[in-house]
Amino acid sequence: MSKLIKKIVIVGGGTAGWITAAMLAKQHCRGGNSDVSITLIESDDIPTVGVGEGTFPTMRKTLSTIGISETDLIRRCDATFKQGAKFVSWRLNSDKEFYYHPFNVPSGYGKFDLTAYWQKDENRHQYGRFAEAVDFQDQICEAGLAPKKIVTPEYQSILNYAYHFDAVKVAKLIQEKAVELGVQHVVDKVIDVGQNANEYIEFVVCEKSGKISGDFFVDCSGFAALLIGKTMKVPFLPTNKILFNDTAIATQVPYDDEEDIACHTIATGKEAGWIWDIGLSSRKGMGYVYSSNHTSDENAMRTLEQHIGPKAKNLSFRKIPFNSGYREKFWHKNCVAIGLSAGFLEPLEASALILVDNSVEWISERLPTDFNSMEIIAKQFNHGFTKKWQAIVDFLKLHYVLTERTDEVYWRDNMQPESMSERLIESLALWKHHPPHLNDTDAQYDVFPIASIQYVLYGLNFKTDVSAQHYLYNDDKLAQQHFQHNLKMQAKIQASLPNHRALINMIKEHGLQKI
Ligand SMILES: Cc1cc2nc3c(=O)[nH]c(=O)nc-3n(C[C@H](O)[C@H](O)[C@H](O)COP(=O)(O)OP(=O)(O)OC[C@H]3O[C@@H](n4cnc5c(N)ncnc54)[C@H](O)[C@@H]3O)c2cc1C
Repeated sequence: MSKLIKKIVIVGGGTAGWITAAMLAKQHCRGGNSDVSITLIESDDIPTVGVGEGTFPTMRKTLSTIGISETDLIRRCDATFKQGAKFVSWRLNSDKEFYYHPFNVPSGYGKFDLTAYWQKDENRHQYGRFAEAVDFQDQICEAGLAPKKIVTPEYQSILNYAYHFDAVKVAKLIQEKAVELGVQHVVDKVIDVGQNANEYIEFVVCEKSGKISGDFFVDCSGFAALLIGKTMKVPFLPTNKILFNDTAIATQVPYDDEEDIACHTIATGKEAGWIWDIGLSSRKGMGYVYSSNHTSDENAMRTLEQHIGPKAKNLSFRKIPFNSGYREKFWHKNCVAIGLSAGFLEPLEASALILVDNSVEWISERLPTDFNSMEIIAKQFNHGFTKKWQAIVDFLKLHYVLTERTDEVYWRDNMQPESMSERLIESLALWKHHPPHLNDTDAQYDVFPIASIQYVLYGLNFKTDVSAQHYLYNDDKLAQQHFQHNLKMQAKIQASLPNHRALINMIKEHGLQKI
């Protein structure tokens, strides 16, 4: 029988490292009551990336599985609720132009394709923007309301939601839980890695603690990619010919007294990229992510300062360069990469932490018990996650390709077919006559649902001509019922939900009901 996998070693204690440690400990250590042990090594002189404040609803499942209380998350990590993203000035260079990508799916989703009816209805604008017509969450965001009430139990929702949070504080909160679940925490710097003749990692060498051996290694060392990159030499596949952004300038902006907290990420298109605005309970996280081939750092800084206004002169700014791309494979021999070591595309749509959630869930469910099964499981993981990364690249690119900002080089370059994948070009051709459908893609590999594609596509005014398929979309009465229902729900729910800041303050004071 092949050697059993008993000792897991995780290198890196950022969000990726601690989520991995806690999830694996929850499933496999049973509070130290199992044969599997988990050690996490993190260096106290190599800081975490410290950004990564926007998430996707998958984060709710991850945190509740680990056993983190949602009230603690809100009290200790400056967390707020996120119901989606508002994209301002992406189609036209005007701050009046915007669309939403909310987390609620369109009414009738998966059963009745309201999208097609919205497209064919000449009077569709009576129901407002696409997101407003097919659902009501965008109106709830516009009104500054929360997605739940103080009496809604932890992790349960009235409207679908994720979080904005302070990534450094979240890593600390999860660390406490992971240690409680049996994870051994080593604060030390990995300075060397030992492999056997077959290139399997046998141990890492730390500055103070010396050799730490293991059977299975998880690389969560961030951009350093210490194991998967530096040691295993797994190639990095750049995506900068498709996604041009390669630099971010990040800052933290204080609120004015009692200023509303946006319940969504605000992403504002600029001449060479976009600015994120993420409302935490104590401050806003803001940053300009841009293409250094399309603007200088000085111009980018000026753009960000102008966007922030007079407060900018008292703030400190941090420049974060990055290479957009991902690994040729994520699992090699007995080492798997999770987080920035696996790759990073750009901050848009919080795709990085979704992939952390997805990877950890997958590995936690399929953790190999011995070395015989490792290769097959690694092959499946690499196949699935390569597809996921490719699908995300196309989804992110979709945000840029339908722009009408043709007076700026950055946006014009983004529209060039040479900068798009063949799959995206094919999809756009298909969607001219067929709305995106649940069968369009390999659903098991989708990270973002088809609903997300619909919100972006039609938010950007894409036209799907469904006239040749009138026999498919002939239940106008039912479509009208859905549109009317959304209008009614909007009014009803709007009247019952609390203001976002008021709810956060109430949770801090009283806590949410435990499930
Ligand atoms: C500008 C920007 C904005 C972003 N915004 C978002 C967002 O809104 N939403 C989202 O989902 N994601 C976002 N991301 C990505 C997100 O920040 C990361 O996915 C997330 O923080 C996880 O990072 P990590 O844990 O992989 O790496 P890090 O946070 O960099 O952690 C790396 C860890 O490895 C340790 N380490 C490194 N070398 C050694 C060594 N030799 N020995 C021991 N330990 C070592 C470090 O000490 C650290 O603990 C953003 C990224 C950038 C760059």
